[in-house]
Amino acid sequence: MRQELDDALVRDFPNLYADRKSTKVPFCWGFECGDGWEPLIRKLSEEIEAIIVAMPQKERKKFRVKQVKEKFGTLRFYMGVAHDGISAVIDRAELQSAVTCEVCGKPGTNRSLSVLCDEHHAERRKKR
Ligand SMILES: [Zn+2]
Repeated sequence: MRQELDDALVRDFPNLYADRKSTKVPFCWGFECGDGWEPLIRKLSEEIEAIIVAMPQKERKKFRVKQVKEKFGTLRFYMGVAHDGISAVIDRAELQSAVTCEVCGKPGTNRSLSVLCDEHHAERRKKR
């Protein structure tokens, strides 16, 4: 993901992305997916950040992102601990990523392990 999009997410959701610069977690590599999924990740972040902010201060630090990446064509969003409300939000975003072009965010389908719209699928085939 482009640096400016990455920076904006980390700035806007300071609890969820508190470990962005921690070298102890894979999240130090940033958001390992295309720009097309940024709106999806932003929406998910808004929902989860709101859940975290509603918790007592000392609980909040348990709920930090460990890794965000693309795997087999879908978004994978890893956090340290399980929480029903948060898991539901993540599941929904992961399902949505399976039909969203990772390059531009338009509707897409999974084409040999990456989700692309028609335009970006054609473009990628030309390059090969
Ligand atoms: Zn596209």
